Amino acid sequence: MNRSSYPGYQRPSGWNALLPARRDVRRLRDDRSCDVAIVGAGFTGVATAARWAALEPGADIVLLDASTVGEGSPGRNSGFLLEISLANDADAGNIARMRECNALISATMEDIRMAVAGSPLPCRLQRTGTYRAAAGTAGLQAIDAYRGFLEAAGLPFDELDRRMLQRRIGTTFYERGLYSPHCYLAQPAALIRSLTAALPRQVTVFEESPVIRLARTTGDWSVSTPAATLHANELVLANNAFAQDLAGARNRVATIYTYAGLTAPLDGAVLDKLGSDTNWGLLPAHRLGTTLRRTDDGRILVRSFYGYGKEGDNAAIAARLADCLQRRYPQLENTAFEYVWSGATGFTLNGAPQWGRFGPGLYISAGCNGGGVVKGTLFGRLLADLALGRDVPEVAALFGTPAWMPPEPIRRLGFEVLSALEARRGQAEI
Ligand SMILES: Cc1cc2nc3c(=O)[nH]c(=O)nc-3n(C[C@H](O)[C@H](O)[C@H](O)COP(=O)(O)OP(=O)(O)OC[C@H]3O[C@@H](n4cnc5c(N)ncnc54)[C@H](O)[C@@H]3O)c2cc1C
Repeated sequence: MNRSSYPGYQRPSGWNALLPARRDVRRLRDDRSCDVAIVGAGFTGVATAARWAALEPGADIVLLDASTVGEGSPGRNSGFLLEISLANDADAGNIARMRECNALISATMEDIRMAVAGSPLPCRLQRTGTYRAAAGTAGLQAIDAYRGFLEAAGLPFDELDRRMLQRRIGTTFYERGLYSPHCYLAQPAALIRSLTAALPRQVTVFEESPVIRLARTTGDWSVSTPAATLHANELVLANNAFAQDLAGARNRVATIYTYAGLTAPLDGAVLDKLGSDTNWGLLPAHRLGTTLRRTDDGRILVRSFYGYGKEGDNAAIAARLADCLQRRYPQLENTAFEYVWSGATGFTLNGAPQWGRFGPGLYISAGCNGGGVVKGTLFGRLLADLALGRDVPEVAALFGTPAWMPPEPIRRLGFEVLSALEARRGQAEI
């Protein structure tokens, strides 16, 4: 069995641990056929399934995931749902293109909001906006570049100095920042579970059913899991970085792990000293910096550090995350994380996704980097449109195509050298 073709984690997702345990997990146990097999029940795969079902109500669609929904990669992120492009999606010199990206992304955000509106799970989806802040030179340069991007796009923002940030989020760690209203925050495990639960009955979801082999036989795809094989006319790979091990995306998408710690709800007296905002998120200005979040139930989330290709030792990283927390909030010196976990995501060199048709009956969407909750949903929907011959926007022209990466071992070496250099440059933001 090829273990690297799907993720497995040392520790459970903290977000999923806060939700009622799942009791309805169904595994693929017997061979069967279907019209469409989708590998990966993340934001991308679930969106492809939902859209395909809406366009072809008679299609038999099977969605396979290696993990259980909520516990796997999509239930491990920091829960930022950006309504606008990241700066690297669009060239600030091309305003029309940037506006088109932003229109697609914000319409998708609205669809997500509608899809989970009646969910019994606490998705905690709220339009809080987001901070971006910097503590050192490299971060401040990145803040200036981001301000230029917002200005070029005609998007509103507030500029905040150290004192203003302290008043709002209770830390003097950052020298300067921006606040932009175009972001929702959510409980990501509840969100992906709710989106999956909203799929129509024509979509059958098999969990704990990792795809380990693909083969194209006469006119259809054989999609093998350890227990059984699925035969499908059409195949969608929506399994992010792990698509590279099954097909197509090799030398374009790499697997990157990053780490998060979540405290228990803090005491009211402690929270009173943590600023006037009670539900907020802060993204690092520098790409290797630390994400920070205060949840509406009074927890603090810290997300930081990256590893290439395989998960690092979570216990060692927990201590480094605690250090990030204490440097921002010295008053939380004795506050331990209730949960620490890691998550894998698909990284491309230039931030552009691997998206489109890659052979007869084969579609792939992978590599949303650190911003795939809304963009993955968008690209997943568009993949179904493409497969069913609908008009689709020019994804490559709008969001770019992923740059080539050298093969191993040069790729790993390159990543390690570049990230060490970048981490040194952005040291103050970690
Ligand atoms: C710690 C962390 C924080 C992040 N924070 C944010 C954030 O705040 N906002 C944001 O937008 N993005 C964030 N991201 C990135 C975001 O999680 C991804 O971009 C997004 O989840 C991509 O969605 P996806 O559906 O394309 O892929 P994924 O979420 O990676 O889902 C892929 C699915 O495929 C399954 N799979 C993989 N291989 C196989 C296989 N062989 N067989 C069957 N199933 C398989 C996996 O189990 C998984 O469920 C973060 C990522 C991490 C790790």
